[in-house]
Amino acid sequence: MNDEQLLRYSRHILLDAIGIAGQARIVAARALIVGAGGLGSPAALYLASAGVGHITLADGDKVDLTNLQRQILHTQERVGQLKAVSGRTALSQINPEIEVEAISERLVGERLEALVAGADIVLDCSDNFATRHAINRACVTRRTPLVSGAAIRFSGQLSVFDSRRDDSPCYHCLFPEGEDIEEERCAVMGVFAPLTGIIGAMQAAEALKVLSGAGTPAIGRLLLLDGLTMEWRSVRFSKDATCTVCA
Ligand SMILES: [Zn+2]
Repeated sequence: MNDEQLLRYSRHILLDAIGIAGQARIVAARALIVGAGGLGSPAALYLASAGVGHITLADGDKVDLTNLQRQILHTQERVGQLKAVSGRTALSQINPEIEVEAISERLVGERLEALVAGADIVLDCSDNFATRHAINRACVTRRTPLVSGAAIRFSGQLSVFDSRRDDSPCYHCLFPEGEDIEEERCAVMGVFAPLTGIIGAMQAAEALKVLSGAGTPAIGRLLLLDGLTMEWRSVRFSKDATCTVCA
């Protein structure tokens, strides 16, 4: 790191659990963020401000007026722009030192797998089960750590999956595909604006911990937030020995 980087990241370097070595790992890291919406906004802003050296931001949608209530990457004057492009503008303004790649498409198939393969960490900030399961499959195949977050109405959840570890469950162990889980999306259900900020910021925190080696990420734990009472629950779960994705 050069002198300016040592200064910019000094408040991380002062932390014993991160230090110069941990910050150097963050600076050298590549993160893939799928979704530049309510969760992706704070997650991307914190990864950028904290110095993750290469961020790929993927989203196929355009900024809409109804997004601005919670999607703090975007601004009134960028309504109508591609979200990935608008997000890249915001991230470059907060930290011009990092590289930000905007991918304005919904990631599927080989394209998704190639991007996961090139990442040190993946943040699932998407809003639908099909994408969540596709990201999980790619992360298990490529042994890339995955930080998963979700927020709807006043409810939030977060967990970390690390396929580099043999004992780590995957997203499919927790939420098997094909089970009759009713899909609820912010687009139609409503969501409390700061809830997406809380969960997205936690996704950034867990990603930075995995990258720097600080602390203990929430692997094998599902954190559930009730925003109306502001109470957290932490539920432990294990790898499913019959999981069709990771077993
Ligand atoms: Zn699994």
